[in-house]
Order: sequence, then structure tokens, then C-alpha cells
Amino acid sequence: MNKMHKQLDVVSLENWFLKNQRKLPFRNTKNPYAIWISEIMLQQTKMDTVIPYYNQFMKKYPTVFALSKTTQEDLLKTVEGIGYYRRFKLMLEAAQVIVKNYQGIFPSTYKDILNLPGIGKYTAGAIMSIAYNKPYAATDGNVVRVLSRIYNISKDMRIESNKTKIHELNQSLIETANPNIYTESLMELGALICLSNNPLCKTCPINHSCLAFEHHLENKLPIISKLPKKNTYNYICLIIHKDNQIFLRKRTESLLEGMYEYPQILASSFKHAKQQLQIEGIEVNLLSKEKTYKHIFTHQKWLIDVYHVSLISKGKTDWILVDMKDISKYPMAKAHRQIQI
Ligand code: SF4
Repeated sequence: MNKMHKQLDVVSLENWFLKNQRKLPFRNTKNPYAIWISEIMLQQTKMDTVIPYYNQFMKKYPTVFALSKTTQEDLLKTVEGIGYYRRFKLMLEAAQVIVKNYQGIFPSTYKDILNLPGIGKYTAGAIMSIAYNKPYAATDGNVVRVLSRIYNISKDMRIESNKTKIHELNQSLIETANPNIYTESLMELGALICLSNNPLCKTCPINHSCLAFEHHLENKLPIISKLPKKNTYNYICLIIHKDNQIFLRKRTESLLEGMYEYPQILASSFKHAKQQLQIEGIEVNLLSKEKTYKHIFTHQKWLIDVYHVSLISKGKTDWILVDMKDISKYPMAKAHRQIQI
């Protein structure tokens, strides 16, 4: 940490927030269940995308009891299109734990919250501070950015130990503040003023306490080293026709687990895919080539070559036959939902 002669002006930050905060559907509540759902949805997902999903979700599952009774498939269908589906599988497990172990009452200690499936330090801190007004820091990417700038911390924030240092700094700050206002105000500053690119320093309510602003470093911080290049995977994807029906497969891989897809094979060509299927006792007959679709995940890229085929022999697959008109009822990630059949 360099030149720590400035301190975040918590009072100015909180006052700015009280006057300038956005109206968000989860701002009018201190219900820990609602705060939890919003925080999980906001992980890796932009606010504008989250809001309609959140509203629909809370209508369908207004309480932890309602959520705990749903099926994974119904839950995935409700959030289809938002991405990062594993968080919802864990969310359902956590709801079931809350009903079983806490009679459906959301736990109120940091330790108990942190023990729930899918809840890490960030989410536990957000729930403790926003819902229960307790001084537990919530340090996400926005907060890392804001605090690295204010304190001119020029360490690589991809490295866990450096993020931990920021978390400790955040913890020491929340202990001197109004926990719920502090947490939300820091997040709001990151979302509205202290933007990743071209932060609005001139209008920033705490620019007088920011080292990056003083030294013109706001566009250089935080330092985050580049991720390794994404691997590209080539899939041969089969639209397997049988009368007016199509075969779907439920994914068991950790990426997109529980989502449905058209059967796809990791292969460089249709011929190569056909050979792999023959080993499994599956015979298909080529009808026509569709086109190639692309989908980019955080760590990998898929190129999906789509072929229409008819089935000669199904082998021992776990594929299910679905009426064409019912395909939209199954949860399917964007990678395959985009395929026009
Ligand atoms: S002055 Fe600029 S860099 Fe510093 S906190 Fe405000 S917006 Fe961020």
C-alpha cells in the first residue's frame, strides 16, 4: 500500500449514497432472504439483466419455503438465460438446509450463513451488513476497484492474497461506519461513479480522499493481470429427428449441469462424430447441415456445428424424445437455445 496519508471519507460517501442511490427492487427491504437472492443473482451478472429475473423470481418464490419446495428443473427454467447456473443449484440446496435446520428462518450469524451451500465470504458479508446491519465486510470486484484506487494499491488483484488484503481493509472501514449504508454506498459508488473505465472523478463525492485521483492513476488501477486465453472446443451438434419429435439430453457435466441440450459430441468433423457414436452403438443418417454457432463462456469458447440427422439406432443413451412444440419448456442455456431448428 503506497502513501497512506489519506483515508476514505466514510461520512461523505454515506451522505452521497443517501441522496443519490438508485431505486432498486431489493433496496426497500431488509429481508435477508430477498438480499440473499439479489446478491446471488448479481454475481457475474449486470444489474439491468438481474432486475427482471429478480422480480419474476420473488413472485414465484416469495419465501424460503416456496423456494425449498421447487425442483431444480423448475428453478433452472425460471432463471434460463441468466447464465452461471450452478449458483441456483446451490441456492436450492441452501433453501432446503434453512427449512430443515432453521425452520425456514434465515440464519442471523455470519458463521451459520457462511456454512450454507453456495455462500462465500462476500455474500455472507452482504447479508450480515445489509439485512442485519452488522459490521461484516462484503468485498466484490467493485469494492476491490474502489479501494485500490482510493488507497493507491498497485498490486495484482487477480492474486488471492492481494484481494484478502483489500478485504481486511474493507473490514476495518466497516467497523467505523453504519454497516448497511456503508456496504451499499461503496457498491453504489463503484456502479455509478468509480467505473472500470473512465471513472467520473470530478463529480465523485470522495475525490478529496482518493490517492488515485490525486496522482492521476484512476485509469491505471486496479491492476488485474489477464486471464489465460480461452480454450476453443469444436462440437458436432445433432438435431435428431423422429417424426415430429427431437432428442434432448440433460447435461451432467459441471458446466451447465441440469440444463438440456441437443446431443453434441466433441469432434472435428461430422465423420469423426459419427465414428464416436458408433462405438456407443448409435447410428445416425445425415439429413442436412445447419450452420455453425458460437458461444463464449468465461473460460472457454464453443464452436457448435449443427447437423440435422435421422436416427437408425439409439444405443444406450439417456436422451429423451420431446415434441418440437415442447422444447421451450425445458431449461436450456443460451449456447443451445440460439440454435434455430
Ligand atoms: S476519485 Fe475517481 S478513482 Fe477515486 S474513488 Fe472517486 S471515482 Fe474512484
